[in-house]
Amino acid sequence: MYKTRFLFLYTLLFLAACSTPNSVNESLAYSDELAEDLEFPPLEVVMKIDEDYDNPKVREIYNPSNTILTDLIHTKLEVSFNWEESQLNGKATITAKPHFYASHELILDARGMKIQKIQMNGLDLEYDYEDHLHLIIYLDREYKNDEKYTVAIEYISKPDELEMGGSAAIAGDKGLYFINPKGEEKGKMPQIWTQGETQANSVWFPTIDSPNAKTTQEIYITVEDKYVTLSNGKLVSSKSNEDGTRTDYWKQELPHTPYLFMLAVGEYSIVKDSYTKNDGTKIEVNYYVEPEHEKDAMGIFGETPNMIAYFSELLDLEYPWDKYHQIVVRDYVSGAMENTGAVIFGEFVYKDAEALLDNNDQSTIAHELFHHWFGDLVTCESWANLPLNESFANYSQYLWDEHRYGVDEADYQAETEADGYYQQASYQGYHDLIWFDHFDKEDMFDSHSYNKGGRILHMLRSYLGDDAFFKGLNNYLISNKFKAAEVHHLRLAFEEVSGEDLNWFFNQWFLGKGHLILFTEYEINEEGNALYLKVKQRQNIDDFPVYKIPTEVAIWSGDKMEIHEIVINQLEQEFVFILSGELKNIQVDPKQDLLAKIYEEKPIDQFVHQYYNTKAYKSRLTALRRACKQNTAETRKLLVDALTDPFWNIKIEAAGIAEKVGAIESSEIMDRINFLAENDSVSQVRATMLSITNDELDEVQRLELLKRIVHKDPSRLVRSSAFQSLVDFNAEEALSVARELEKEASSSLKVTLAEAYGQIGEETEQEFFEELIFNGNLNGENELRVLFSYLSFSLMQEIDLLEKTIEIFEFYKKNGGSYVEMYFERVIQYCIEQHQETINSLDIEINTIEEDSNGDASELKSLKQRYLTLVSNLSALSE
Ligand SMILES: [Zn+2]
Repeated sequence: MYKTRFLFLYTLLFLAACSTPNSVNESLAYSDELAEDLEFPPLEVVMKIDEDYDNPKVREIYNPSNTILTDLIHTKLEVSFNWEESQLNGKATITAKPHFYASHELILDARGMKIQKIQMNGLDLEYDYEDHLHLIIYLDREYKNDEKYTVAIEYISKPDELEMGGSAAIAGDKGLYFINPKGEEKGKMPQIWTQGETQANSVWFPTIDSPNAKTTQEIYITVEDKYVTLSNGKLVSSKSNEDGTRTDYWKQELPHTPYLFMLAVGEYSIVKDSYTKNDGTKIEVNYYVEPEHEKDAMGIFGETPNMIAYFSELLDLEYPWDKYHQIVVRDYVSGAMENTGAVIFGEFVYKDAEALLDNNDQSTIAHELFHHWFGDLVTCESWANLPLNESFANYSQYLWDEHRYGVDEADYQAETEADGYYQQASYQGYHDLIWFDHFDKEDMFDSHSYNKGGRILHMLRSYLGDDAFFKGLNNYLISNKFKAAEVHHLRLAFEEVSGEDLNWFFNQWFLGKGHLILFTEYEINEEGNALYLKVKQRQNIDDFPVYKIPTEVAIWSGDKMEIHEIVINQLEQEFVFILSGELKNIQVDPKQDLLAKIYEEKPIDQFVHQYYNTKAYKSRLTALRRACKQNTAETRKLLVDALTDPFWNIKIEAAGIAEKVGAIESSEIMDRINFLAENDSVSQVRATMLSITNDELDEVQRLELLKRIVHKDPSRLVRSSAFQSLVDFNAEEALSVARELEKEASSSLKVTLAEAYGQIGEETEQEFFEELIFNGNLNGENELRVLFSYLSFSLMQEIDLLEKTIEIFEFYKKNGGSYVEMYFERVIQYCIEQHQETINSLDIEINTIEEDSNGDASELKSLKQRYLTLVSNLSALSE
């Protein structure tokens, strides 16, 4: 599963939309704080753990894997739908056998169903279903573990009537979703889809809903002829029925776990692609999108066959399943889901060619694909072992970036992942990666299982070397395929390949918590030929391990560079190295692949040397940040060079640093920044450079540059940035440019214009917003951006216009997608608070006037009345 990362972004967006332009700028200062973070943090704030974590009163749970009483063998489903009632009519025919001990019962998970009939060989069976969670079926006799039996269950699944009791009652465990089933919401294609992970599929078919169960699958889906269907396995047949419906028959012959079952129904367009396996078998790789996105499907998903080929080769194990389809659904409850051969994505992946210039979703695509080995072929046996699925899927994003975009891009993304872990852990606390005492299985889906796990795999790869690492993965997959595994299976697979006992690695990283915090300093002897490197582990060892860290030290001295292997395994250690001449630089972990906060105490000239003489992205980045603290000639030279670095984010960092230390006053630097603003091939670089300016610049020239870019740059991101600069620079000019562009704007440019009007729009722009919101067919992120822009636009207007907001908010309430739903209530509450403030100040004014016996407050009173009505209409919307 891939959770959307938008939540954080939208929180920022929300704050930005609800603030004055000034505080928008303040929120950008955040990245400066990140730069400061490179200074060694005080010990007491270094790592803290969840307070509940070590409290035995709270934490005495051990979450074991589910005890296996019965082996599922085969699941045959026959389903049709009642769109009016949002129900599924189903028949499940389940073949199973006792796992070891003989039994006369079959116990299935079945949540909130109406059970109509249960039969075996045509004869009714007795059953208990009192809690509406567990279906206990009494078989006709006792069965031994070498005896298969088959039961048929007729049922109705009612996801919308589920009683969501208990702590696990989250919006996302309905299992089966009917979206706009009666077609009442404008611009939203009616559809049905499912989401199984973690244990929600037992809402729509009775099963053993546990990650350590596996079964083969076939499903007959009957729908009106206008719909297409998607499920796991191959589409074997499509048969028209006499009543005008059609039955699609999907069959998957290889076993997988019940949370991976899926179905989807809707009037989708299918864009066909394919992948040819090594043995020459061609499999279908199709993209299911809404018709209006058909033209973009190849742009969004077109790298998939290359990814399948690359991962198959890397793992030396051919893609194991019979097809690989991907579908985009509305109002999805997660980011994406690795249902075997039928992956679901949220609507955030809908991007047109223009949007793809700024950003693509190949990371998410790779993540779900890699799950088809790690998760689908070999499945974590319990949710505590979830990192066996998610760490690998997370690491596949690195592998794909490295292959497709180069190691700098991969390392850049890896740093973002590591930061995600550092940040979340700093406020939610640290726990073991394989987290046996989690409170709730849903808590497993955090930045430990994903981000930290991915970084740990990278360290293991670096330690073992590529050959042993990938051979180990292959061994793990082959040894455990079509089975469930726990972390020890993984360790044993690597041990078998490498020949080394790896408990030390697995104990500290998979079964322990935290990360290394390292402080280093050095001294040189009087003769100048020996260097004493002191390293100190600074994590709090009451709660975290003293780590064993095999790593390297690179020393540049005289005209030589030497790499020394060391093992850091004590709280404080000293290593001695012989120097070949004057020391130029010493660096611990030159490959920069440790999950660690490392603070190296050394002079600035060593960081300058480091920028020019090391390869790793993070090494260059750290060098730049540590070397450029002041505006000196040396700093400016380094910044100019960094502004021509081959990697885009180094250029962006360099520009940010130049601005911070005042180096943009240098014309050489500013010329370079202006050049990049118009000519860099990466849109993020152009967008950032545009936002930087110094006072020296000719106003006319600047205005011309911004206008030129707004008109001609192909990237939405760059045009937005240019617009933002234009707004800051000359709001009047910006407004007239925006109005001029409105007529022929593409839909993404309209979003940019909406954002500009959100800051500088006048009453007349209401018409633009109405047209865009009612008829723009916006969805996903764009829909939300326009909502925030409209919010900030409307709050700058007078009552006549404010009264018109009700109709717009009503529209959003009725038609808004899942992102809008997430924020709608807060938007309305924010408006109410703002209007309430206006009412309060009107009250003060009215009082002042009335204290004067000659004053006439009737006009203000009627204005106040209009605001009160507005607030009451808004309140009605939030009910
Ligand atoms: Zn995942």
